[in-house]
Amino acid sequence: KIQNDLSMTGMVVKSTGSWYIVRDEAGTLHRARLRGKFKLQNKATTNPLAVGDRVQFEAEIGGEDTVAITHIEQRDNYILRKSVHKTAQGHIIAANIGQALLVASLVLPRTSFGFIDRFLVSAESFRIPTYIAFNKVDLLDTDDRAYLDDVMKMYESAGYKCLPTSTVTGENIDTLHEILHHKKTLLSGHSGVGKSSLINQIGNGLDLRTQEISTFANKGVHTTTFAEMFEFEPDSFVIDTPGIKELGIMDIENEELAHFFPEMRAMLGQCRFYNCTHVHEPNCAVSAAVKAGQISLTRYESYLSILSGDDNRK
Ligand code: GDP
Ligand code: ZN
Repeated sequence: KIQNDLSMTGMVVKSTGSWYIVRDEAGTLHRARLRGKFKLQNKATTNPLAVGDRVQFEAEIGGEDTVAITHIEQRDNYILRKSVHKTAQGHIIAANIGQALLVASLVLPRTSFGFIDRFLVSAESFRIPTYIAFNKVDLLDTDDRAYLDDVMKMYESAGYKCLPTSTVTGENIDTLHEILHHKKTLLSGHSGVGKSSLINQIGNGLDLRTQEISTFANKGVHTTTFAEMFEFEPDSFVIDTPGIKELGIMDIENEELAHFFPEMRAMLGQCRFYNCTHVHEPNCAVSAAVKAGQISLTRYESYLSILSGDDNRK
């Protein structure tokens, strides 16, 4: 495709379904529409474009302050929310995500292991590396803190980097800053765990919730956005998915599920049956590792719960 002189490159930072906001490479925001009929890159999706998409665009002739998106670049990855109807289609929430940060807490509110593990399976299925921040550690007494250490050991040994954080004492805020610096990070976790507080501290007091992403904010237009992207410091972005409780888990066959548990993935060739589901099969390496304490029982229970379809997975 030949680019003309006026063509620019940018990234979608907001999507309403009918119009978009694109950030050009200099950081200027443009209100944008899709030009013409766009062939969906992927037939499995209901929307052509999402936050994080890299696009080419040009000024629309005679079009006030709107630009036209003329090309969507190939995605590195994307996350999908499965359609509520049991069709094969899903809605793209965000594209080209470098990493995810799951913010959890042992208290106020307590994040369950089931929730954490489902998120991790989803992130694995979308090939997004994930950090876990256990926030509000200032609220933990000595015993709770020792318990948290065990929890973090469990996730570290499964292959996830964990960080105890507090916006009250400032613990590990600098480390978190380094992790998020110059990256595009999917931010997740229950409401109230401290996501905005953490980003606000890193972004020098920039309020995640009230940040004006554009001067042409939805003036009275009611739109459903699935995800919003915030630039909390130059070239560093977080993607917030308000209202999305859980990411979809991609269609995963029962005998594939263990591939999305890194600590199980490592031993998959060792079961007697190639299609072992690691539940009651004889000579199962995973069950043996659970018995031997090499794989945590908590993680294995989450595995069984997801396997049994005790969630939204078909
Ligand atoms: P979000 O819904 O995940 O964005 O959570 P918020 O950032 O809005 O925080 C929810 C509440 O928890 C607010 O009252 C914050 O002041 C409080 N909070 C956030 N981080 C911490 C923390 O590290 N320690 C304590 N004690 N409270 C926190
Ligand atoms: Zn097995």
